[in-house]
Amino acid sequence: MYPFRYARARDALAAAQGAERSPTTRYVAGGTSIVDLMKIHVERPTELVDINALPLSQIEERADGLWIGALVKNSDAAHHPLVAERYRAVSEALLSGASPQLRNMASTGGNLLQRTRCPYFRDLGAPCNKREPGSGCSAIGGYNRMHAILGGSEQCIAVHPSDLCVALVALEATVHTQHAKGTRAIPMADFHVLPGAHPERETVLGQGELITHVSLPKTAFFARSRYVKVRDRAAFAFALASAAVALDVQDGQVIAARVAFGGIGTRPWRSPEAEQALVGKPATRATFETAAGAALAAAKPREHNAFKLALARQTLIRALETARGAS
Ligand code: SF4
Repeated sequence: MYPFRYARARDALAAAQGAERSPTTRYVAGGTSIVDLMKIHVERPTELVDINALPLSQIEERADGLWIGALVKNSDAAHHPLVAERYRAVSEALLSGASPQLRNMASTGGNLLQRTRCPYFRDLGAPCNKREPGSGCSAIGGYNRMHAILGGSEQCIAVHPSDLCVALVALEATVHTQHAKGTRAIPMADFHVLPGAHPERETVLGQGELITHVSLPKTAFFARSRYVKVRDRAAFAFALASAAVALDVQDGQVIAARVAFGGIGTRPWRSPEAEQALVGKPATRATFETAAGAALAAAKPREHNAFKLALARQTLIRALETARGAS
């Protein structure tokens, strides 16, 4: 055990201003991630700021779409009628994640900030560039069955663990934040960064910047979006491969498409290549196979995860066929 301070935030701006001055301050909401990491000393904040008293627990319909507060619990978001009816992939992604107990505690904002499940990251005895910059990567050359085949660098090949984020990036969500000088809106596709030379940096958030809401655009065919997840067991397991897709099909032709992968990328992986291969084409299995090939052309499997290539291909084809059936 090591000492840390605990404080309750009453105001988002004041919390962001305070946290900006202290690089070792962390926010806590549901605590399902940060507290776990503190127990194993991977995270060692000097101060935890509890944000649960902030007014960020609402799901609201606005002129530009649906706003989901950062403190909305994963289970509440998944079962909310406006989420389930208009953004089905978001609801399915949430319900495929973790366990019912964790979903009842975990927050929307926290879900976006989940750290990787790479086992070396959680093992203080193993070199890990993400946990300790410059120490090396134990997964490259080590056991890398669960690791990324898209977006890796020579410093890190850890997979992004969130299901929700895959659906949010496919459905073009926006992340809204409070920082010390004001607010900003960040497209979900730009929120997580590739590991490159600095895998310790995972998002574009600045020091102390607080997620306040996530918004989803009003796009009619997102109601027929779907999320398909493949994993080692049917519950409480992270994705080996997953896909969030939305298809607008009219008279058998794909008019618009959104595609993102989970379980295979170092960040939630939007695939413009797959979308381009789908739009304007007949909504057939042959088209879906071509799109899957395009999506995975740049994949770089490692020693133990080459199986993910075929698995991701089949997962995307299944997701597209499921979404076509709903069109
Ligand atoms: Fe650390 Fe990333 Fe390598 Fe895992 S893959 S050991 S998180 S640097």
